[in-house]
Formats: sequence, structure tokens, C-alpha cells
Amino acid sequence: MSYFRVNDKCNGCLSCVENCPASALSYNDRVDQRTLQHNMTKCARCGQCWRVCPQEAIEFQHLLTGQWDDVVTLDLLRCQVCGEPMYTTPYQQKFINEADLSSHALCPQHRQRQAASKRPFSISVKTPSKLENK
Ligand code: SF4
Ligand code: SF4
Repeated sequence: MSYFRVNDKCNGCLSCVENCPASALSYNDRVDQRTLQHNMTKCARCGQCWRVCPQEAIEFQHLLTGQWDDVVTLDLLRCQVCGEPMYTTPYQQKFINEADLSSHALCPQHRQRQAASKRPFSISVKTPSKLENK
């Protein structure tokens, strides 16, 4: 959807096109239809089109909206313990190897804890050198 929007008062007079200092507005006459066109990459958001429009047809506020547009939405995998987001399903399919796939989906912190809990019990024995340093 275009950020440059006009309401149904637009009569196609082309005042906005002729007065745009950035050549961000254009039009296309095809058969029996006129289409007003806007190029966001050229637009300076100066408001000149809005000022010169005799019909008050330009809804300029949409050009000033700093909104985020959703581009793509993908399935997300979360840590099975804490629910922290980890990676998307397509990322998993491309980059996570078979060994990791076979284990539970765990964030780095819980993966570490799981690995630590599986380590064999070890006793720390003081060597003579350690005793000398005391
Ligand atoms: S100046 Fe206003 S009425 Fe004329 S073409 Fe532009 S938007 Fe439509
Ligand atoms: S805001 Fe300014 S640069 Fe953008 S279309 Fe209107 S007149 Fe052109």
C-alpha cells in the first residue's frame, strides 16, 4: 500500500504533479483512465503537494507515519524450558545439523545446564604444586 494517499475528492487536476519539487509524483494516462503515481524513494515529504491541492484530496499524514511494515512472518522455535525465542523453522532446516535436531530445542543457557548435568562426577585432587602455592 502506498504511503501517498488521496481521498475520493481527487479530480486528477495534476497540480500536485506539476508542483512537486522532487519529481516524486507522476501520472499515467491509459486508454480512458488516469492514474496518479508516487515514488517514495524520491519523496522529500515536504508537503508541497498537500498545500497546492485544490481539492484537499491528499491525506498527507500517511507520509509522516513512521510505522514499521511487516515484511515476512515465519514459524519460530522457542527453548522448551524457558520459552526464549531461538530461531525460525527455515533457519533450523538450513543450518542446524542432525545431531542438534535430535536433541530438544534448548537456548544456549539451558543447553549448557543440560550438558553439565550429564557430566560424570569428578573429584578435585590437590597436586603437590598446588599445595606448595598455599
Ligand atoms: S492536486 Fe489534488 S486533486 Fe489534483 S491530482 Fe493531485 S491530489 Fe488530485
Ligand atoms: S511531499 Fe513533497 S516531495 Fe513528496 S510528493 Fe509531495 S510535493 Fe513531492
